[in-house]
Order: sequence, then structure tokens, then C-alpha cells
Amino acid sequence: MTAMVKAEGVHKSFGAAHILKGIDLEVAPREVFCLIGPSGSGKSTFLRCINHLEQISAGRLSVDGELVGYRQKGDKLYELKDSEVALKRRDIGMVFQRFNLFPHMTAIENVMEAPVQVKGESRAVARARAERLLDRVGLSDKAKNYPSQLSGGQQQRVAIARALAMEPKLMLFDEPTSALDPELVGDVLDVMRGLAEDGMTMIVVTHEMGFAREVGDALVFMDDGVVVESGHPRDVLTNPQHDRTKSFLSKVL
Ligand code: ADP
Ligand code: MG
Repeated sequence: MTAMVKAEGVHKSFGAAHILKGIDLEVAPREVFCLIGPSGSGKSTFLRCINHLEQISAGRLSVDGELVGYRQKGDKLYELKDSEVALKRRDIGMVFQRFNLFPHMTAIENVMEAPVQVKGESRAVARARAERLLDRVGLSDKAKNYPSQLSGGQQQRVAIARALAMEPKLMLFDEPTSALDPELVGDVLDVMRGLAEDGMTMIVVTHEMGFAREVGDALVFMDDGVVVESGHPRDVLTNPQHDRTKSFLSKVL
């Protein structure tokens, strides 16, 4: 089976700053893969590499069997053109800590925007799908609201629906609930849980250890640009092997 994401010795530097120091990991299709670690350890950078927002400095990184950023012909690598990168990025949905909705568009317009503008889909088709997706995230009744008329949790659920509208094969979540008031976190996690049940492949950077334990299939603890420890969430969370993992978990659990 082809891994959905495969990282082999992935390094990333920004100038002299060496941020990712040889990441090896594999995400299987339909897996919920949780990534935890202290602030500054390189989690967002890693997600950004997967999503073509940063180029890796060394190693190999592939999504669904294809190298990120390159086309391979024989044993030669060719850098992808911007248009080719744009095509690949359509297959990956990303949800950020800050919801980044278009403020001048209603919820449903936000969800329709990419299929219409990027894929050239008809507004009728895009609208029908957007209605289904808003229903799925529990916001059918908010379709005509502007972001400023929605709570943070509702905005984040619209952001998830917007990412799903491109029918991605992989969803990346970068601390999707960190900016939310505690009472709004549950609804967002419930939407993510539903996605997981439907078989979506997801990489989730989170501090929600309950979610990782209940929904996650795999958990990686990252620190200072390396994978310190990985395994089944239950095992890593209840029986961490490394001091750095123990120390981190004692602060977040
Ligand atoms: P995390 O998401 O685990 O908190 P990040 O991946 O955001 O960590 O950041 C890891 C390190 O990389 C930080 O020290 C950050 O300052 C640095 N970094 C991230 N992006 C850039 C960039 N574009 N230029 C320089 N340094 C960066
Ligand atoms: Mg981050």
C-alpha cells in the first residue's frame, strides 16, 4: 500500500537556522496521525513542507507516492512549475489555528469560492456541495452569515468545510482549536472525529491529548526538529519512553 505521506530524512533550514533535522515518518491512507511537541519544534514547518508552502532542504518527501515539489524522470529530478504545484495543492486541505475566512464573503460563499475560482466549477454545483458540507459541520442555518457574525468555533468549522470543498485526499490541521475559547473546542473536534470516521487521512498538530488518544491511530512526539518518539497514542501517552516526552506530557496532560 502506498503511504499517503512518506518522509525520509527530511531536513529544512531557513538560512543558518536548521529547523527539521532528519524527519522519518509514514502516514497510511485513512490514518489519523497526531503530531505533538513543544512550540518551535518544527511541526508547522513540517506541515508547510507537505503542502508545498516550503521546500525541503534535504531528504525525500512524498504525498501519495509522488515527490513533493519535483517530478522524477528516470533518475533525474525536475522542479515542478508553479502551475504543477498549484494542481498538487488542490489535493491537500489545510486548516490553520487562525481561520482565515474571507471576511467579505458569507459562510457558503467561502465554501464555494475555491471550486468555482480554482476548478472552474459551476456555481450551482459548488453551492449544492457547499450546502452539504455546511450541514456536515452543523452550520446549515449559518450559510448566509459573514465570518464576523460567527463564533470562533463556527468560523473554524466553516474553514474545515471550505478545505473539504476541494475534495482533498489529505487534510492537515495545524492546532485547529488552539485559538478557541474552551467551550467551543468540542464542536470542532466532533467535526474532525466525524471526518476520521469517514476515512479521511488526517495529520493533526494538536495539544488536545484526549482527541489524540480517542481518535488518533498514530502519535509522534517531535522536539527540536527530530522525531523523539512515536507509536500508538495510547502507548505514547500512557507509557512514554523518553525523558523529553515525559517532561512535555507532564506539562500538557
Ligand atoms: P512549531 O509549529 O512546532 O511551533 P514552527 O515550525 O512554527 O514550530 O517553527 C520552528 C522554528 O522555525 C521556529 O524557531 C521558527 O522561528 C522557525 N521558522 C519557521 N518559519 C520560518 C521562516 N520562514 N524563516 C525563518 N525561521 C522560521
Ligand atoms: Mg506551529
